[in-house]
Amino acid sequence: MEKVIVCKFGGSSLSNSDQFRTVKEIMEADERRRVLVPSAPGKSQDEKHKVTDLLLMCYQLASHNLLFDEIYNLVRGRFIQIRDDLGLTLKIEEELDAVREAIAAGASSDYCASRGEYLCGKLLADYMGFRFVDAEEVIRLRGGKADVKASSRLIREHIVEGESVVVPGFYGLNEKGDLQTLSRGGSDITGAIMAAGVKAVVYENWTDVSGFLAADPTIVEDSAPIKTITYNELRELSYMGAMVLHEEAIFPVRDLNIPIHIKNTNAPQDVGTAIVPDWRAEERTQVVTGISGKKDYTVIRVEKTHMSEDLSFYRKLLSVFETNDIPIEHMPTSIDTISIVVATSLIKAREKKIREEISIYCNPERIVFEHDLAIVAVVGRGMISTKGTSATLFTALAEDGINVRMISQGSSEMNIIVGVSNEDFEAAIRAIHDKFMRS
Ligand code: ASP
Repeated sequence: MEKVIVCKFGGSSLSNSDQFRTVKEIMEADERRRVLVPSAPGKSQDEKHKVTDLLLMCYQLASHNLLFDEIYNLVRGRFIQIRDDLGLTLKIEEELDAVREAIAAGASSDYCASRGEYLCGKLLADYMGFRFVDAEEVIRLRGGKADVKASSRLIREHIVEGESVVVPGFYGLNEKGDLQTLSRGGSDITGAIMAAGVKAVVYENWTDVSGFLAADPTIVEDSAPIKTITYNELRELSYMGAMVLHEEAIFPVRDLNIPIHIKNTNAPQDVGTAIVPDWRAEERTQVVTGISGKKDYTVIRVEKTHMSEDLSFYRKLLSVFETNDIPIEHMPTSIDTISIVVATSLIKAREKKIREEISIYCNPERIVFEHDLAIVAVVGRGMISTKGTSATLFTALAEDGINVRMISQGSSEMNIIVGVSNEDFEAAIRAIHDKFMRS
């Protein structure tokens, strides 16, 4: 079978005609790059807004019977400008008029939002000399999520081996046959579905950074780039807020062992980050891969002597959170105490109610709410086999005078979660980063 690389380019990589030129150079530098998945043009130095946001604004105005041309003309202007700058002859005005008419006639918000990718795909296909394949033909959603199986079947039916195609990101058809968008940033998912469908050798995700950094650069100034990370490590890190790639983009390719490369469109020579399946874990030399975290959690500490002897206790306690639709982030336990960690924003206004319900249902001796907890996730598959990792971690925090309020280690031993006060959050990340990444 032919070797294919699927390339997804993000909105900032397609924000103007110069970026289109760069994209073409990148695509032509490797003949295996034959499937191109674009986002809608995004922000740049000169462009203040993402096309998707402009289109959603058009929808909002139109759905309230208000005039939307002022905004739509911004969208129009951007596509025409790119077409003219590149010297293309494609009659994009006809497409633009048809979209305008559809919005005026009451098209759905998903349809409106998707047109940025559609129009961008049309221009790119013309510019690259690739065939345009509408996402409606090959991308299927079920229950709002990617239906990889159904999509892969259609991809194999519609795309001939060896041909070069542009498939717009971010949308497809749902089980009812209606156009539906994926969640925001969803072109990453389309790229992954396409990679799965054509069994790509690699899925390249081109964006405006040279991959993942080991820690948030606004906290750690010269944080090291991560060269390789496993799918699982990335899950742990992105869940905690280190988003460069849409987290759902991992699933379509993971089972097929297709690596994802995060690359910088404006610095293609940079290595970027390779997201690889676990089987390459032995290549790992570093103990910690990355550190991420989030502020503003609440710990609800529930105390009851001999709680583990009451077989229904945990079920009852958890059902209070389940029935209030509050997701639990972590749940460290000791003999007579269980701590439930939840996002403060989800519990703040309902504190009294939750306290009452736990009291009625679980009859504990004490319930304590503690706010202002920050969670730091230290992730790395090297941690499993390296003795003294926890000792080093906690020494680093103690040396910098940071009090640890909570500890939770997953049984996979791939992550250690540390709870510190909100005000110690940045210092904790710096202390851990400096200990593991600089020494
Ligand atoms: N254009 C869409 C958004 O702004 C999808 C994407 O860029 O991936 O969310």
